[in-house]
Amino acid sequence: MSTNGLHPNFQQHFDDMVAINPGETEFHQAVYEVMQSLAPIAGRVPEYAQWSILKRVCEPERQIIFRVPWVTDDGDVQIQRGFRVEFNSALGPYKGGLRFHPSVNLSIIKFLGFEQIFKNSLTGMPIGGGKGGSDFDPKGKSDTEIMRFCQSFMTELYRHIGEYTDVPAGDIGVGGRELGYLFGQYKRITNRYESGVLTGKGLSWGGSQVRTEATGYGTVYFAQEMLKERGESLEGRRVVVSGSGNVAIYAVEKVHQLGGTVVAISDSGGHVVDEKGIDLELLREVKEVRRGRLTDYVEARSSASHVSEGSIWQVPCDVALPCATQNELSAEDAHTLIRNGVKLVAEGANMPCEPGAIEAFKDAGVLYAPGKASNAGGVATSALEMQQNASRDSWGFEETEAALEEIMRDIHRNCVDTAAEYDCEGDYMAGANLAGYIKVADAMVAQGVI
Ligand code: NDP
Repeated sequence: MSTNGLHPNFQQHFDDMVAINPGETEFHQAVYEVMQSLAPIAGRVPEYAQWSILKRVCEPERQIIFRVPWVTDDGDVQIQRGFRVEFNSALGPYKGGLRFHPSVNLSIIKFLGFEQIFKNSLTGMPIGGGKGGSDFDPKGKSDTEIMRFCQSFMTELYRHIGEYTDVPAGDIGVGGRELGYLFGQYKRITNRYESGVLTGKGLSWGGSQVRTEATGYGTVYFAQEMLKERGESLEGRRVVVSGSGNVAIYAVEKVHQLGGTVVAISDSGGHVVDEKGIDLELLREVKEVRRGRLTDYVEARSSASHVSEGSIWQVPCDVALPCATQNELSAEDAHTLIRNGVKLVAEGANMPCEPGAIEAFKDAGVLYAPGKASNAGGVATSALEMQQNASRDSWGFEETEAALEEIMRDIHRNCVDTAAEYDCEGDYMAGANLAGYIKVADAMVAQGVI
C-alpha cells in the first residue's frame, strides 16, 4: 500500500502503529485512510497532540480472542476462533456487528472496529465503536449446526457484553437466525431478558422496524442526497449493486422505489446481469427463504444471465453501489467504471474500494462516498432499536424509516459542511473522517488520559 501523502506530523504515528501491528494489512489501510484526511487539523488543535489522541485512538481499549468449540451433526468436534475488539467508548457503549466468515482474522475485525468508531460518531447517536466475529463459515451448515455454534460463541462472549458495555449486532454471515440463537443463549446464561444487549432482533422479541432494511436503504438515501446536491436524482439511473446479502437486497429495493433500475448483482460465485431490472421478489425468495445462490435466480428468470468470470464492475452504469465486502473494487475496476461513464459510487459495504480506486474516482471527478458515512444507516437504526428497548416502546415502520432518512440527510450535510470548513469542498471522505474524528477526539480530551 502506498504511504505517500500523510502529513509529516502523522507519518511517525502511522509507522509506529504498523510496527506494533505487523501483518494487519486491512487495519493499516483503514488507519491510513483516516490519517490521510486529518491533515487540515494537524497542528491546529494543540489538545489533540498534547493528549496523544491519534495514538490512543489507534489502540483498541480491549481485544478479546477466544476458542469456540462446537459439534457437527455427524459428531465431529470443530474448533473456531472468536473475536471481540472493544475499540473506543468515548461516545457510548461499544457498538458494532459480528461477522461469521472463513476470512475473519484480527486484522479484519480491527479494521472494521476502527471504521465503526467514526461511523458511529457521524450518526450523532451515543455509541462507541467495536466489532467481533469468527472464522466460522455458516455456508452449507444445517440450522442445528448454526445453533450449536452460536450457543458456544455466546457462552464466552456473554461475559464481555451488556446494554451499557458492548452491544453487538449482525454483519456478513450473521442475520436474524444467528442473532436469535445468540440472544437465546445470552438470556439463558444470564437469566436476564436484557433486550438492549443485541440489535437486529426479531420484531416480536425487541427488534426494530426498518433495522433489516436500514443499511441498504440508508446507502441509497445518501446517494440520493449526493445527487440532489448537484441538482440531479436517481430517477432513470442505471445502477449496479455488488453482493446479494442483507445490504444489497435492500439497496436494490430502495433504488427501484426511487425510480432507478438495478441491472446487476453478485455473490462470491460471480455476477448476474438482468437488463429488465433485478426482480426483487424473486431475489428475496432465493436468498432469504431458500438460502440459495444467484444461479437459482438465473434459472427462474429468462432475462437474466450468470457471469462467473470477470468483475461486476465491467457492467456499464451511472451509479455503483459496492455492497459485498472489503477491497472488492480495485483501481482497475475503477478505471473501467470511469470509462463506462459512472457518475457516483456510494459504499454500502465497509472499505470495498481499494485506495487506488478511491484516488481514481477523485481524479475523474466521480462522486464518491465512504462507507462510514453512506452505510451508517444500519448502526443508526440499531441505536434507534436500543432507544426503543430502553423505553420498552416500539415504533411503526413509517416513523422509523422517516427517522432513518433524516439521519442520512444529517450525515450528508455534516460531511459536506465539514469538508467545506476545512477547504476540501466536495470530498466526502475528508468530510466524514474529519467530522467523525473531531467529535471522538473532543470527548477523549474531556475524559482525560484513560
Ligand atoms: P451478508 O452476509 O448478508 O451478504 C454478503 C454478500 O457479500 C453476499 O452476497 C456474499 O456472497 C458477498 N460476499 C461476502 N464476502 C465475499 C467475498 N469475499 N467475495 C465476494 N463476495 C462476498 O452481509 P451484509 O449484506 O450484512 O454485509 C455486506 C457488507 O456491508 C459488509 O462489508 C458489511 O460489513 C457491511 N455492512 C453491513 C451492515 C448490516 O447492517 N448488515 C451495516 C454496515 C455495513 P456469498 O453469499 O457468495 O458469500
